[in-house]
Amino acid sequence: MQQITILGSTGSIGVSTLDVIGRHPDRYRVFALTAHHRVAELAVQCEHFEPQVAVVGTAQAAETLVRVLAEKGIKTEVAYGEAALCAAASAPACDVVMAAIVGAAGLAPTLAAAKTGKKILLANKEALVMSGRLFMDAVGKSGATLLPIDSEHNAIFQCLPASYSRVPAGHGVAKILLTASGGPFLKRAVETLENVTPEEAVAHPNWVMGRKISVDSATMMNKGLEVIEAHWLFGAAASEIEVVIHPQSVIHSMVSYVDGSVLAQLGNPDMRTPIAHALAYPERIASGVSAMDLAQIGQLIFERPDFGRFPCLKLAYDALLAGGSAPAILNAANEVAVQAFLDRKIGFRAIDRVIAQVMETVAHGEVTDINSLLEQDGRAREAAHSLIS
Ligand code: NDP
Repeated sequence: MQQITILGSTGSIGVSTLDVIGRHPDRYRVFALTAHHRVAELAVQCEHFEPQVAVVGTAQAAETLVRVLAEKGIKTEVAYGEAALCAAASAPACDVVMAAIVGAAGLAPTLAAAKTGKKILLANKEALVMSGRLFMDAVGKSGATLLPIDSEHNAIFQCLPASYSRVPAGHGVAKILLTASGGPFLKRAVETLENVTPEEAVAHPNWVMGRKISVDSATMMNKGLEVIEAHWLFGAAASEIEVVIHPQSVIHSMVSYVDGSVLAQLGNPDMRTPIAHALAYPERIASGVSAMDLAQIGQLIFERPDFGRFPCLKLAYDALLAGGSAPAILNAANEVAVQAFLDRKIGFRAIDRVIAQVMETVAHGEVTDINSLLEQDGRAREAAHSLIS
């Protein structure tokens, strides 16, 4: 029986993870669930899964959760704040950590799981984009197992040999082909993108996701973050990672080999597939996802991305090439700009302008430890806030 902590259990990935776990009560038990402020949703999850621990963001949210759980007679311990998140991710009783908090807030607990040698199912790409080498070093040092949940990286993982050791050339890998749906604005006239509303931006054509990643998909910053994520997960250089627009999201990504073979992983766009794959790896378990009907899909379509339409994708490649803290600065500026867009403080096209200006004005440097990383992240956030206000 594996004991699981789900960081961000009330989010889109968290809910899908509980759905898969709920199908296999003989294999998995929930050790801890965490949310930020959605206490009512977390209480319902505690009622169903009876975790040992539940963590929320604030003392006030914790008080509310304690009261609600007491009324229901549920014995889950309640805690709050970052230290409690880290404790839930690193507790000796926990075997597996689903890292599904959105944004930089997930960094500390995901790193805590890495340092304590857990099996980490990584959805929180921002944590890896920010901390890159620090995170991979922590995984290597503790012997943690890192399995990608992002559907693209999970697909690539499935298309690589089991012995893969983060050296593409050593395994005959010529290129990683990251597929991208292109989001809701792939065909919209570029000059009208200025007027896009948050409601239009979060309406993804194929995937149901949280609001931040949905906006990232609309700008294609999501794909940019995934390019950086692929660099760290698979040891590929920027020139070895190519983005291919595939609007149907049937192929989740591919690996191109030096002999001309291209291996792809296909499936219906439902995150329960990569979640089930990573949970059970190297076995296979049912996820609840329906079988694909290829004849009904008929044709698969591909095209090249247009950096003019999607400048965020280019900014992410630039950050990867710049190295050091540049990806963390990109990520911080993006988080601030996307929140400002969702709060209707800036327009859609201002997202890429804010990020570009922050990248120009905030000097990037080496990331030697978590403190220097957080200091550079903080400077980028300040710069983005001052551009917005
Ligand atoms: P959601 O916004 O749906 O959920 C985010 C979760 O994180 C919620 O449980 C939320 O709690 C919690 N949370 C938010 N802010 C904080 C904070 N400051 N401290 C602690 N917890 C916090 O996001 P998604 O599930 O869509 O995405 C999660 C991660 O997975 C992201 O990094 C995303 O890029 C990645 N991902 C998501 C995919 C998807 O299909 N959704 C696909 C691939 C990757 P509360 O509910 O209380 O606010």
